[in-house]
Amino acid sequence: MTYKTKFTRLLALCMLAGLYLSQTVAAQAPATHDEEIHKMVNEVSADNLRTLVEKMVSFETRHSLSSTTDKKRGIGAAREWVKSEFEKYAKASNGRMTVDMDRYTVKGDGRRIPQDVEMANVVATLKGTDPNDDRVIIVAGHLDSRATDVMDAKSKAPGANDDASGVAIVMEMARVMASRQFPATLVFVAFQGEEQGLYGSRHMAERVKKEGWNLVAVLNNDIVGNSYSAEMGIHDNTRVRVFSEATPSNETEEQARLRRTLGSENDGPSRNLARYMKMTGEAYVDQIEVVLGYRPDRFLRGGDHTPFNQQGYAAVRMSEMNEDFDHQHQDVRKENGKQYGDLTEFMDFEYLRKNTAVNLATMANLGRAPHAPEKVGVLTANLTNKTDLKWDAPAKGKKPAGYYILMRETSSQTWDKKFFVKDTKVTLPYSKDNYFFAVQAADELGHTSLPVLPVPVRQ
Ligand SMILES: [Zn+2]
Repeated sequence: MTYKTKFTRLLALCMLAGLYLSQTVAAQAPATHDEEIHKMVNEVSADNLRTLVEKMVSFETRHSLSSTTDKKRGIGAAREWVKSEFEKYAKASNGRMTVDMDRYTVKGDGRRIPQDVEMANVVATLKGTDPNDDRVIIVAGHLDSRATDVMDAKSKAPGANDDASGVAIVMEMARVMASRQFPATLVFVAFQGEEQGLYGSRHMAERVKKEGWNLVAVLNNDIVGNSYSAEMGIHDNTRVRVFSEATPSNETEEQARLRRTLGSENDGPSRNLARYMKMTGEAYVDQIEVVLGYRPDRFLRGGDHTPFNQQGYAAVRMSEMNEDFDHQHQDVRKENGKQYGDLTEFMDFEYLRKNTAVNLATMANLGRAPHAPEKVGVLTANLTNKTDLKWDAPAKGKKPAGYYILMRETSSQTWDKKFFVKDTKVTLPYSKDNYFFAVQAADELGHTSLPVLPVPVRQ
């Protein structure tokens, strides 16, 4: 047999296999891109982000224990300014965006909080357009800053990168998204009290739990605007990290037993939110790779996503690829001709623009998606080399146009194959012993819910 014949036969075989697959599982798949998300991504401006960060730096310090009454300096003035900016953006929302200063008292602990202090998160809420959709998505950064000594509320603490960069992401997204329609409710937050002990995020996570929000995702942004590590000589603005916990912090004993049986320790909701961010971000934003950090945060460190994880919510943290510790948690000073301090001049606003766009694409795609499918199960009644999956259509939100079944080998890090079906069940010609599966609901424009892993069911 000639090489050419061999090739033709192989091609024919592949086509046959493709036909078989399309007849068994594939329906007409929805579009994969939403033009309006592309438009929003293109509206994110590096110049705006720079202006926002420079303004935050101009308050000289945003330490959580700094002045709340000074009109120009300190956390109080900074909070008021964020609020007034949110109010400007809200004008384009036709009354759907509301702005609050969510105040709370932190008790003195004799350590990072010497005595009782009032703090506040600045919150802009863009109410969902579908009254039948109760999902909430949060994007956040922290407004407070610090100097070398975490108790020093007097010295300059510009906090350009930590974390005016994260708050600038939140603000720029609120500006671009305010006039747009999303069935889910989007919440934009500038937390306070992060450096003193995650107080703002803990306050909000507890409130969310108490009020029973259907919070489906938290995107936390902290230290996201520098692309240069002088220490390593690395300059790279094409990669960004997203950290996620592997398994839920509040996992029950029963859930842990099932996880050990299935080997699904790499598939907690936060981990799959991180994968969603990678898939969506990279689909809409050029020249950025989302690197999945398979730990809850950087080594021995935590952030404002942590209290949400502890309350059982899917929450991830975005951070730049190469941190620069000469310009983080450092007094502004010169030593041997070298400049220290978290200053705007060490930031890369083109990098921050791309990171903003990744957050925006993720929030927009999820905010426009149907609710996730319910009661997702994999049938275990028969020993078979095929996989039978079934689920219920979501009870709330928009009606899905269909469902994506995601599949990957058990050793793969990201979903590497997907099938589209209109029904709420499918038989795939792949063994459940050799792959992980998950199911997402999708609308006709391809907006997808977060994936849900199946649990074993008898029938
Ligand atoms: Zn920070």
